[in-house]
Amino acid sequence: MAEVTVREVNGLRFEERDLRGKVPVLADGGAFGEIPLVRRVDPIFGTGVRFISGAKIQPESRADVTELTASDGFCPFCPDFHEKYTFPFPAEMVPEGKIRRNRALVVPNIIAYSTYSAVGVYDSTRHFVPMEELDANLLHDALGAMLQFVRDIRSYDSRASYSSINANYLPPSGSSLIHPHLQSSNDHVPLASQAVLIERARRHRREGRGLLLEDYVEAEREGPRYIGRLGNAHFLAPFAPSGFREVWAVLGGGADLTDLGDEDATALAEGLAMVLAAYVDWNLGSFNFALTGGGPEAAALGLNPLFRIVARSNPDPYYRSDVTYFERLYGELMVDITPEETAAELRQRF
Ligand SMILES: [Zn+2]
Repeated sequence: MAEVTVREVNGLRFEERDLRGKVPVLADGGAFGEIPLVRRVDPIFGTGVRFISGAKIQPESRADVTELTASDGFCPFCPDFHEKYTFPFPAEMVPEGKIRRNRALVVPNIIAYSTYSAVGVYDSTRHFVPMEELDANLLHDALGAMLQFVRDIRSYDSRASYSSINANYLPPSGSSLIHPHLQSSNDHVPLASQAVLIERARRHRREGRGLLLEDYVEAEREGPRYIGRLGNAHFLAPFAPSGFREVWAVLGGGADLTDLGDEDATALAEGLAMVLAAYVDWNLGSFNFALTGGGPEAAALGLNPLFRIVARSNPDPYYRSDVTYFERLYGELMVDITPEETAAELRQRF
């Protein structure tokens, strides 16, 4: 029988169940036995995760990306090209036209994926930045430039209040460009999981609770998934991750992305650099991240900006995809590493 464990803290339900997998046991000549198969449900997003045992689906060595990341001539973000092949925003929209912070550069995206979309590179002076060289300074400048873009857009069109800053890194994460970059979406409507987050915060408020994500941090603060605090940012591994080696940062510097200041960008960049250094040590070579704002009611609903990062499949030609039918069609992660393991290893770096 499935054993259910439920921990209720601050109106958040941490539900865990052992589904007890029935399998032939090799050590027992193939006789059928049971092995643990823990399933959890995320208290915020409602997604499921199942932790399988006995499998090793993490890479044993780093992928060689030399060929993949060699410059093959034209790249719109490389030094010889970006002056000519990227365009400024109209001055009334973004006063700086192109936003530059040291080596970081933010320009309009040629391909629209939201009403106001921008693309930014961490480093406009070189085609490829290996993950171990995405340091806190480069990340701070790129995040700072993107946050400026979001503030500019909000001043220009206050209805475009569903903002996010996101990234793909190398093709397994969905990136079509090798030159490492990040993006920002600003729309009149929320992204799907942004809407789930906002609705969850609304329910939390209706139930007479406090700030959803701060309540989440408080519930986890003394536990095995808490990683550490930098400035106003709390880093933790989520109870029920939606991707490999997922890490969250709940930013206490305000309700929405437009409230975040330079010290918030610094704290996030420092933490992100430490997470990426760990990814390198774990032989991981690709990731997605998302920094999500809470829309026009963020302050009234007591939301905080939420940062999430997940590792993706390695940039190896025949490496398995991290997205199976479980993730793609059921919204349920299947993984062999628990957030407790991820947090324990990261905590030593913070
Ligand atoms: Zn380039």
